[in-house]
Amino acid sequence: MATGVFHRVLLKLSGQSLQGNEGYGIDVPAVQYAAREVFSATRMGVEVGIVVGGGNIWRGSVAEKYGMERGTADYAGMLATVINALSLQDSLEKLGVDVRTLTALPMQSVAEPYIRRRALRHFEKGRTIIFAAGTGHPYMTTDTAAALRAVEIGAEVLLMAKNNVDGVYDSDPNTNPEAQRFSSLDHMEAINKRLDVMDSTALSMCMDNELPLIVFDLFQPDNLARILQGEPLGTIISGEKQRDVVSTK
Ligand code: UDP
Repeated sequence: MATGVFHRVLLKLSGQSLQGNEGYGIDVPAVQYAAREVFSATRMGVEVGIVVGGGNIWRGSVAEKYGMERGTADYAGMLATVINALSLQDSLEKLGVDVRTLTALPMQSVAEPYIRRRALRHFEKGRTIIFAAGTGHPYMTTDTAAALRAVEIGAEVLLMAKNNVDGVYDSDPNTNPEAQRFSSLDHMEAINKRLDVMDSTALSMCMDNELPLIVFDLFQPDNLARILQGEPLGTIISGEKQRDVVSTK
């Protein structure tokens, strides 16, 4: 039984969060750190699904700018997410977490195909799931995959893990010392203000399905566990706005 307030969550880990301080690719200590945080969540009895990004290795939109056909470039991006997924799977397994990677693109020698009912069965058996290859379709992002999988598996919340940003701000806190962090927002407000939460397709999907999001800094130790225990960290985006802007960074 879960000891916190959530029973099943979807964690979105961007490629950047697995990149750590490296300029490109995977930073093994960052992956190990993320795995430890997920391990703590599983020890609380929470069912965790993880959607991994791929932007630390490949982004379709960037390759397109260099002249590559977009559809092909996006399939390459989806393969990048599989590399990240395998790396995270390895770190989780080394901690003793029972984990399965399910990919939206069939690649049977590497991982199981994504089948929703199979994912639900894995949860029943107490396993953690990594969802790889995004939605399996070009012109989409892993943020949209995260919203989609969260809705499909009945997650109570979508946790958007950030690296060194502790929520959603009204402007970039790295360049504007006056930037204000929101403690809560509603989905429509986040869309209308074009805040840097996730892309609008993904955010609309969360709104239409009344899926709350929490944007938080995964790289502050124990933040994930604290959120799962109900601490109001980061920025919560839901159907209801609770409070206003709270603080500067
Ligand atoms: N991608 C895609 N369809 C999807 C998810 C991802 O085509 O459903 C491709 C797209 O090219 C994207 C890349 O995979 O640029 C990496 O994903 P994303 O940019 O979402 O990763 P993140 O920003 O989370 O690291």
